[in-house]
Parts: sequence; structure tokens; C-alpha cells
Amino acid sequence: MAAKLIKGAEVAKEIRAELKEEVARLKEKHGVVPGLVTILVGENPASQSYVRAKQKTAHELGFYSVQDDQPADISEETLLGLIDKYNKDPKIHGILVQLPLPKHINETKILYAIDPDKDVDGFHPVNVGKLMIGEANYLPCTPFGIQELLIRSGTQVEGAEAVVVGRSNIVGKPIAMMLVQKGPGANATVTVCHTRTKDIAFHTKRADILIVAAGVPEYIKGDMIKPGAVVIDVGVNEVGRTPEGKRILKGDVAFDEAKEVASAITPVPGGVGPMTITMLMKNTVKACKVLNNIND
Ligand code: NAP
Repeated sequence: MAAKLIKGAEVAKEIRAELKEEVARLKEKHGVVPGLVTILVGENPASQSYVRAKQKTAHELGFYSVQDDQPADISEETLLGLIDKYNKDPKIHGILVQLPLPKHINETKILYAIDPDKDVDGFHPVNVGKLMIGEANYLPCTPFGIQELLIRSGTQVEGAEAVVVGRSNIVGKPIAMMLVQKGPGANATVTVCHTRTKDIAFHTKRADILIVAAGVPEYIKGDMIKPGAVVIDVGVNEVGRTPEGKRILKGDVAFDEAKEVASAITPVPGGVGPMTITMLMKNTVKACKVLNNIND
């Protein structure tokens, strides 16, 4: 039987509609407008397209949005100065520095310089630490999107065996940490797999919820999945181009096989991807409320 599709693109649309209403309400009732700055250093085409997509969404939702493009040879000191400026700017509630940064800039130093209350990417160690102790401030956007997909698709997370393949700081580790917390969309029993895991299939076959963020196209085959599992495929891998030059994308899960075994699965594209930017916007609205002491 074919699995139900968890359509991230549709869920993202639903959340954006909610956010748009909230932005209008904040403006009308409190006279504040969520402000997001995206700082892009250099001319990496992928980064340019990510930043453009973030700016476009911010604009559509009615944010005050600033796109700050800087040359690839900007000094670390100047970039730190810019962050300091936005940390102090009351119109800006969320600061996003698009990664990767050029090699001469210490990425960690830059991310640590962002005011944790404006860290809408959720990468600052203060926010990572808060997540760890169950007092999350801003959740990192991709894991936040995954959890929201689980909740909105009605997946039973509490008590589930959740297996995460991948342990990166932006996806694998934070989603594992989120699912193990007490609270809605959590309370799971979590296993994390990586390249040193002895028998990946042993673990994936036990998973009621299988989350794959390995960056290896079609790595998880149908026979590695427990019948009836919910599969969240985070992978976005370009495996070629169409004759027209369009990117051909594959997830980390062999979709055609997996959909015959799983009870629900996210497609690639149109699954986790559209959720990431949406959750960035959700974090920025939250930042606006926190920084303006708005509780309603
Ligand atoms: P990453 O930093 O490269 O981390 C990959 C992780 O997977 C590592 O922990 C690695 O283990 C593990 N891994 C790699 N090959 C493996 C294998 N054969 N068996 C078991 N574990 C393996 O990647 P990432 O940034 O987390 O991204 C993962 C994927 O998600 C990529 O395709 C990326 O494009 C996609 N992604 C999508 C979104 C979105 O919005 N949809 C956002 C972020 C990332 P080790 O630690 O042992 O090396």
C-alpha cells in the first residue's frame, strides 16, 4: 500500500497564512513590524538564491526586511561591526548570516556575536544550550520544521522509537535533542546514527519515526524501513540536470521503495525544504514579540 504523503509545501503555506495574520495583528494592535536582516557575504549562487527566497517570504508576510550584501573580501572586524549595528537596531528582531562564509572569516566568532535574542537561526550556543535543558528559545529552522510536520500530520511521537540518521549541528543533533524533550511532538525514545554506526539497517528497521539527514542520495532503501513507519527525508541532493538545465533532486531515501513500506513519507522536493524558511519567519515573529515584551 502506498504511504500517505506529508506535503511540507502545503503545511508551510498554512503556517505562512497564520504568520501573515499575526504580523497584521502585531502592526495594528502594538504598532510593531517584525524585522529581519539577511547578511550575505560574497557571490555564492546557492547562497544568493537562499537569501533571495528568505527575503521574498519576509516581504510577502509584511516584515520589515533588509538584505545586506557584502563583498567577499570584507574583513572579520567589519562584519562584526555590522552585527553589532543590527544587534542595537530596534527595528531588527532577527539577524541571519548566510553560511558558508569565506575562509578568512571565523564563522563561529561571527555566529557567537549575534545577540541570542535575535538569533532566529537558533545556532548561538546560548540557544543550543537552552534547547538541551528543555527551555528552548529559538529552535533551529530545519528541525523546527520537521517537528511541526510530525505534529501537523498527526504522527504519534510520544513513546515512539525515533531514529535519526546524521548528527550535524544544524539537523541531526538538534532534532534528536528536540524529540527527546518532554512536551508536544516529543517524548520519543531516540537513537542517532552516523558513519561510525556499525549496522545502520538494524537501527532504521526499528524506527517508528525515521528521520534521514545524511546527504547521500537514496541511501535508505525500502528493506531498511519498518512497515508502517513515518519517514522524514531531509536530504536534498542534486544528482544531475534535465536537458533544459533544471536541477534533478533526490532525497536520502529511495522514495519509490520507501513509499510501499512506510505509512507516511515526505517527498523531495516539497517535503522538509519549504518548512525551513517558514520556521525562520516564525522565529522572527517570536523575536519581535519577545523584544517588544508582547505576551498576547
Ligand atoms: P552534514 O553536515 O554533511 O552531515 C551529514 C551527517 O550524516 C553526518 O553526521 C554524517 O556522519 C552522516 N552520514 C553521512 N553519510 C552517512 C552514511 N553513509 N551512514 C550514516 N551516516 C552518514 O549534512 P547536513 O547539513 O545535516 O544535511 C544533510 C542533508 O540534508 C543534505 O542532503 C542537505 O542538503 C539536507 N538539508 C536539507 C535542509 C532542508 O531545508 N530541507 C536543510 C539542511 C540540510 P558523520 O558525522 O559520522 O560524518
